[in-house]
This record gives sequence, structure tokens and C-alpha cells, in this order.
Amino acid sequence: MELNEALAKLAELQKKMYAYNAASSSLYLDGTTVAPKDTAEGRGVALGILAGEQHKLFSAPEVGELLDFLWEHRDELDQLHRRQAEELRRSYAQLTRIPADEYMEYAMLTNEAGDVWRRAKEKGDFELFRPVLEKLVAFNIKFAGYYDSSKALLNEYERGVDTAYLDEFFATLRERIVPLIHAIGEKEQPDDSFLRRHYPAEAQRRFSDYLMEVLGLDRAHCTIGETEHPYTLEFNNKDVRITTHYDEDNVSFSMYSVIHEGGHAKYELGISDDVQYTCLAGGVSMGVHESQSRFYENLIGRSKPFVEAIFPRMQEFFPEQLQDVTAEQFYRAVNKAQPSLIRTEADELTYCLHIMVRYEIEKQLISGKLAVKDVPDTWNRLYKEYLGIDVPNDRQGCLQDSHWSGGSFGYFPSYALGSAYGAQMLKNMERDMDVWGPVSRGDLSQVSGWLGEKVHKFGGLLEPADVVKNACGQFDPTVFADYLEKKYSQLYGL
Ligand SMILES: [Zn+2]
Repeated sequence: MELNEALAKLAELQKKMYAYNAASSSLYLDGTTVAPKDTAEGRGVALGILAGEQHKLFSAPEVGELLDFLWEHRDELDQLHRRQAEELRRSYAQLTRIPADEYMEYAMLTNEAGDVWRRAKEKGDFELFRPVLEKLVAFNIKFAGYYDSSKALLNEYERGVDTAYLDEFFATLRERIVPLIHAIGEKEQPDDSFLRRHYPAEAQRRFSDYLMEVLGLDRAHCTIGETEHPYTLEFNNKDVRITTHYDEDNVSFSMYSVIHEGGHAKYELGISDDVQYTCLAGGVSMGVHESQSRFYENLIGRSKPFVEAIFPRMQEFFPEQLQDVTAEQFYRAVNKAQPSLIRTEADELTYCLHIMVRYEIEKQLISGKLAVKDVPDTWNRLYKEYLGIDVPNDRQGCLQDSHWSGGSFGYFPSYALGSAYGAQMLKNMERDMDVWGPVSRGDLSQVSGWLGEKVHKFGGLLEPADVVKNACGQFDPTVFADYLEKKYSQLYGL
């Protein structure tokens, strides 16, 4: 085989993979937005077939031969193609270890599990979800056995991060954050009742349009839809969709969801053209992705300069609801720190503790130390231990998140890692330029420019650890702890 011929085959393979992904994503988007309620079955059949075909395409022996050939000639390849060969070889080795029938069965199970989970959550009935969760865990234990079992769970989302790394990270956070939360518990809480006045969805939609504009999201390449749970879905760097959920009795939920998902979208839209339709397109890892969404949501979106910049406009969207509120009051309200039950509603400070609970449980489930039937009790015990609160039911407890029903085990830590990466990026950004001058005028273009250069443009061209190093320097969880300590000491006068 000639090298040119091999490169042509490599490009063709990746475009086909892109097409399968695009088809599956379209079905997912449809199912979560406009599809009628009882239509999941047919999409499940189609998704199962697509997953099977994609598996067949990629796991064929000719693909293995092509990738080996390219790897043997890696010294003759440019960085772009060398990285593609490297990434695909890794995926190929992983995938070919899972038998095709198991892979397809798993794809169908995760589709079915979503519906079961939704019903179980609605009823607050863990027993309804238990059998399907047991199947999901059994699959994941089996899959972990096909790889290096000490790393498989987390490496799927964050290559280079293993259990020891995370144990140390969470230990640092526990040591620093738990006392801070205790100290805040002694202090008077700010009044945030005005956030829960009646905010009509129609006005919130217009406010979302404004926020997209502030974020610099081009509506010709990024739309906003409505789903029960907000998410970002990317087709390529010219087509990204974000969603939000309007709670008419809580203005901050959608506001910060839009800024968060907008951060994910900024990342996807900022990836360079060179890597499109290849395995290097898309954000490099979940942790790095979360570093971007959380950067916009918390480090910028919940900062005083940003709130002061947009609050006058916000009052125009919600004149009756916010006329007697000041920017300072709003800033304090959206930074209220208080242990609570629901992860997605948790504040910036207590959020990591929610993640720690899930991390502990996943670790024990996949290592076989915890039986699925004991998940609710363990969940409730850890919430008491870390956050000091009692969980009244499973709906507000272990059934609250969709991740496990979608087969995503080991995903949660990336949220906390992302926050920590973000804090280090901010520290470096402040060293490089004036961050807060422009932000206080509602101008995020410089911030986006910095992130674009240090993180976005690479996509998967660099390893996750190298992107982190590029933007953060050496990873150091104490920087995040310092950031939280400083911010919350000021807010609460500690
Ligand atoms: Zn996110």
C-alpha cells in the first residue's frame, strides 16, 4: 500500500464515522426536543442498527491493518495524521475487545434505560430502576475487564487521570471546602427570594437570546432549544446546538444553564477547521470541556464585574421582578452557598461534594464492592457525611441524575476537575492580560480569545493532559481551593 492511498482511506473512514455520529446525534436531538412522547422504541431500533453498523465499520480487520501500516510509517506523517493514527489505534484496540453483539445489546439497553429511569424518577421508585441499573453495571464491569480495570472507568473520559490522581484531588477539596462550608453555616445568608418570583418563559427566551449575544455565539452556527435537561450537542465546528429549560419560578436556572452550555458551544465552535470530520474533532476530554463551560458559568458568569455589567439589561427584560433589586444583591444571591440535595442546583462551592458522593459510589460499583440494591442507602449516608443533610427520597437522591441510565460511569469527576482546571486558567489569564476591565463592560471577546488560543483551537490534536498543561501549567488543586476560599470569605465576611 502507498502512503497516499492509506491516507485517503483514513480520511474516508473518518468521514463515514462522522456520518454515523451525525445520524445518531440527530435522532437523539429529535427524541429530546420535538418528538412525540411515546416514540422512543422506533428510534431505539434505528440507534441500535447505527451503533452496530458503526462498530462493524470500525472493527473490521482491514481497519486494523490500515492503522498498523500508518503507525509503521508514523515518522513520515505530519502531526495531524500521526495523531489521528494514534487515536484511532487506541480506540480500535479498545473496541475490538468488546464483541459486536455485546456492544449492540449495550447500545439498546442504554436507550431503554433512559425511559425506565425517567419513570422511576417520576415515581421516586428506585426498585423500578434497579434491574436495569444492575444490567448496566454488569456490562460496565465486563467492559472494564476487557481493558486495564484500574483505569478503564475514568480513562474513558479523562485519559491520563487515574484513581490515585482523583483520590488526591478530592482529598484536597474535602480538607479545604468542608470547613469553609461549616464556617458559612454560622453566617447570615443573603436574601435570594427575588430569584424565585414569577419569570414568564417568553421573557426568559428573550433574555437567553441576549446572553447568547454576550457570549458571542453566532446564531447562524448555534441554536438554542428547550429540553428537560440542558445539554450541548455538536455536529461540527459550524453546527452546534445548545438547550435549556425554563423554570418560571427560578430565573437563575436557565440563565446559568445557557452560560454553561454556551461555554461548551464556544469550545466546539472554536476548534480549527483542520481537524473537522476526523477523530480529532470535538473537545479533547470531558474534563477540559467542563473547564470551559464552568469558566463561563462560574468564573465569569458569577463574578461581580460580569453581574454588574449585565444586570441593567436584565432589569429591562424583567422590570417588575427586579426593579427593587440591586446588582450587588443579585451577585450575592447567585453566589449563595448552602448544602442542598440536587447537584444541578448546587452552588459553586458545595458542587464538588455532590461529585464526591457519586465518585465514591461509582468506584465501589465498578470494583464490585457495592451492590446496586445498596446504592440508595450509601447515597444517603454520604450526603449526610459530606454535606450534612438528610435525603428525604430517591427522587431527590440517587435517581436525580440521568448519567447512569445513559451508561456514563466515571463521568462525574470531570465536572469537578473542570472547575479546578478553570481556576488555574483564570490565574494564568490574569497574568497575561486585563481580564476584568473588558468583562466589567460586558465584553467577553478577550476572554474567549485567550481560551480559543490556549484550549479551543486544538480539539483533539493534543492529549488532554497537554491541553491542561498548555492552559494551566502543572495541575494543582490548591489553586481551585484558594480561589473558592478567597471568593467565599469575601462574600460571607469570614
Ligand atoms: Zn457541562
